[in-house]
Amino acid sequence: MDFELTPEQREIQALARELAAAEIEPHAAEWDRAHGFPRALLDRLAETGLLGICVPEEHGGAGADFVSYILALEELSRADAGVGVTVAVHTSACTLPLLAFGTAEQVDRFVPPLARGEQIGCFAITEPGAGSDAGALRTSAEPEDGGWRIRGAKQWITNAAFGGPLLLFARTDPGTRTARGVSAFVLEGSEVEITRTEEKLGLNSSVTNDIAVDTLVPGDRLLGELNHGFRIAMATLDGGRIGIAAQAVGIAQAAYDVARRYALERETFGHRIADYQAIQHKLADMSMEIDAARLLVLRAAWLKAEGRSHTEAGAKAKLFASEMARRQTAEAIQVLGGYGYTKEFPVERYYRDAKITEIYEGTSEIQRLVIARSILGRQELVATPS
Ligand SMILES: Cc1cc2nc3c(=O)[nH]c(=O)nc-3n(C[C@H](O)[C@H](O)[C@H](O)COP(=O)(O)OP(=O)(O)OC[C@H]3O[C@@H](n4cnc5c(N)ncnc54)[C@H](O)[C@@H]3O)c2cc1C
Repeated sequence: MDFELTPEQREIQALARELAAAEIEPHAAEWDRAHGFPRALLDRLAETGLLGICVPEEHGGAGADFVSYILALEELSRADAGVGVTVAVHTSACTLPLLAFGTAEQVDRFVPPLARGEQIGCFAITEPGAGSDAGALRTSAEPEDGGWRIRGAKQWITNAAFGGPLLLFARTDPGTRTARGVSAFVLEGSEVEITRTEEKLGLNSSVTNDIAVDTLVPGDRLLGELNHGFRIAMATLDGGRIGIAAQAVGIAQAAYDVARRYALERETFGHRIADYQAIQHKLADMSMEIDAARLLVLRAAWLKAEGRSHTEAGAKAKLFASEMARRQTAEAIQVLGGYGYTKEFPVERYYRDAKITEIYEGTSEIQRLVIARSILGRQELVATPS
């Protein structure tokens, strides 16, 4: 078994790390307070190819593998988790499913502008009454004039305010109330209305919007098979979760870096706090758990890059990495003491940013159900609330 990254993977990791250190990390606290980063950053990410890393060159991307993309996501999230999720949703939850499930016409129309970063993509499934139980969604799509009349409202849609294309899920079989009867559509940003910008605990540099839709789209906006949209949603989340796991590792790595540096400088009772076993044990646990999470993430990313089943591996990576990030960012605050609780150091922001990784793209409870279903091979596990 070879744990070495390929030269291309190392090159993309280094590119993302350098850009993040020079152009993102120095501004992250300010963007957290301002609830947003400048549009110019997206142009920089675009010109460096970081918005189309694993999109084939013939479709406007850099043509690298999925592992390279995941390595870059960790680096961007280490500097600013909000920038990380902006790129993760754009790539994993919009561009890649379009590539995987789109017709040649849909791919030619929507993927190149996304891969070149001219547009920023969204994934819209969640509704006020349909989060973990996404199959209960109520947005409807009815046949009209050879196309589809789509009506409804979506909640907490990352990137919607950028006005780019959306992968949107709607019910095409009105006789159903479950995942069956749901279809996927590609909408232009101009076909939805932003109704709200969410105020959040953390991840403040990323934009999260509620949207309303009442639009008539042509028939060629249906993505994949009619009434089989939920398969597209689940396949998309299988890959998306690996990205969120990489985001969590990036946040935890940033917290560990600050805590380790602080422990080597801060003195109490005439000694560096790094000399105290209690602090050494905290740093040892942080370092170990970050390594363990990163290995789970890279294994899942490698399985996906190899075109192999990655549902269980992705769920394990997301579950472990997200819970680890919440635990270890709290420990980083503890190592910094009172300073950790202030905005003088970034660890409080890391703690606030880490929490969302246990919620979106499937909560930790749902990940445990996904893993249990996979290891026990029994579909009905999910249907028995306990
Ligand atoms: C900042 C942010 C960004 C987001 N971005 C997007 C986006 O871009 N696109 C999008 O579509 N959605 C997005 N979401 C929505 C996100 O994916 C959902 O919040 C998530 O799926 C959880 O759904 P919910 O919030 O409705 O919680 P609920 O489903 O109401 O769950 C509440 C609690 O019950 C638990 N629970 C639910 N069902 C079960 C069960 N069967 N067994 C055990 N426990 C259960 C959950 O784990 C959770 O702890 C975003 C949310 C946030 C906060």
